[in-house]
Amino acid sequence: MTLLSADKRLIIIGLDGVPYSMVKDLSASGTMPNMKALIGEGVFRQMESSIPDISPVAWGSIITGKNPGEHGIYGFMDLVPGTYRLYFPNFSNLHGIPFWNSEQKGKSAVINVPGTYPANQINGVLISGFVAIDLEKAVYPSSLLPELKRLDYRIDVDAEKGHESMELFIDDLNRTLEARISTYRYLWDKEDWGLFMLVFTGTDRLAHFLWGAYEDRDHPYHNTFLQYFNDIDQVIGEIVWRMQPEDSLIVLSDHGFERMDRTVYINYYLRKTGFLNLRRLPTASYDDIDEKTKAFALEPARLHINTIGKYPRGSVRKNDKEAIVRDLTDLFHSLEVDGKRVIKGVYRKEEIYAGPFLDQAPDLVLLANHGFDLKARLQPERLSQSTIFTGKHTQDDAFLLVKSHRYFCIPENPSNCDVFKIVENLR
Ligand SMILES: [Zn+2]
Repeated sequence: MTLLSADKRLIIIGLDGVPYSMVKDLSASGTMPNMKALIGEGVFRQMESSIPDISPVAWGSIITGKNPGEHGIYGFMDLVPGTYRLYFPNFSNLHGIPFWNSEQKGKSAVINVPGTYPANQINGVLISGFVAIDLEKAVYPSSLLPELKRLDYRIDVDAEKGHESMELFIDDLNRTLEARISTYRYLWDKEDWGLFMLVFTGTDRLAHFLWGAYEDRDHPYHNTFLQYFNDIDQVIGEIVWRMQPEDSLIVLSDHGFERMDRTVYINYYLRKTGFLNLRRLPTASYDDIDEKTKAFALEPARLHINTIGKYPRGSVRKNDKEAIVRDLTDLFHSLEVDGKRVIKGVYRKEEIYAGPFLDQAPDLVLLANHGFDLKARLQPERLSQSTIFTGKHTQDDAFLLVKSHRYFCIPENPSNCDVFKIVENLR
């Protein structure tokens, strides 16, 4: 290791989907003793995630410092402009320069940041996080591939296993974590780096399936849930132990999590209230949107007005848009399931986004109240149902922890767009 990069090193540990409130809880209860120590030594804040609170959107803002109107990623999928055809944005669609590509900042090792597939050139090494289809394209430089294969590296947990059997899923979760740990150790020692960024995504997967097990002490997987977070905490402890006294550390999540009771299907509601009309049923294709449609939703709850000139069968005139935005806002504010209000917030795009890609933004984005998960799904059978998942993302409960001897400044109420500046300060 050369002293050149060793004298101003920054380590970033990402815990996908881990809420501030849970870190507080698990560090106080003894499950995360290393996090407890870090909270005592550093600055620990609750952090706002992006809207929507989806991993590729949130991590896109964390690594570029830009809001979705600037970086152009609004979800796991989007429409090809001028069509109803879906595409899946990837790293090449993310606008803005990730902090590891900032000029004259030395080498980086970046492991498993969601939304960084396919891996592109970096001064150092990069292993993409989900969604990454092919390991060969997820690694830069490709000379690293044989070693990753030897370590049995896995990009992501096979969530399908969670639908088959919880035992299989947990086994896969642990194997994925072990391979991630072996890989970080290998790169930590082998590479010369000034920035080391490692993201754990099993935390999010586990929380989707077993949030109920976290909250319920009598749940058969309660201890399994805690054990996983204890394992993560031990890796954090190991990394802290490996750090040099002048190194800086950031630990953070991209969004929070909470219990989910019911999934509510937005397009079902739009169909029932006459805003959405489909040319044929059943269908899963947005190409079946007809000209009577005034609005439709993309996952998870991004509402697009079917505007003339913007979409092939657009029918809403620009002058009528405002009235429809108001109607939809009222409609969703009053939506109730099981006697409870479903929607916490209805956001207009101008309120939450700014930048050159504002035109591609959804016209409205919905955030759900506690217990409700929103999904678009074009043609579900009913308005709401409970599913195998017991946890869902939250927008207002991500966390940020910074420990450094150097000067840094964290806003009182940070958002994930603020991380970029902090990283730049510490390098
Ligand atoms: Zn996430």
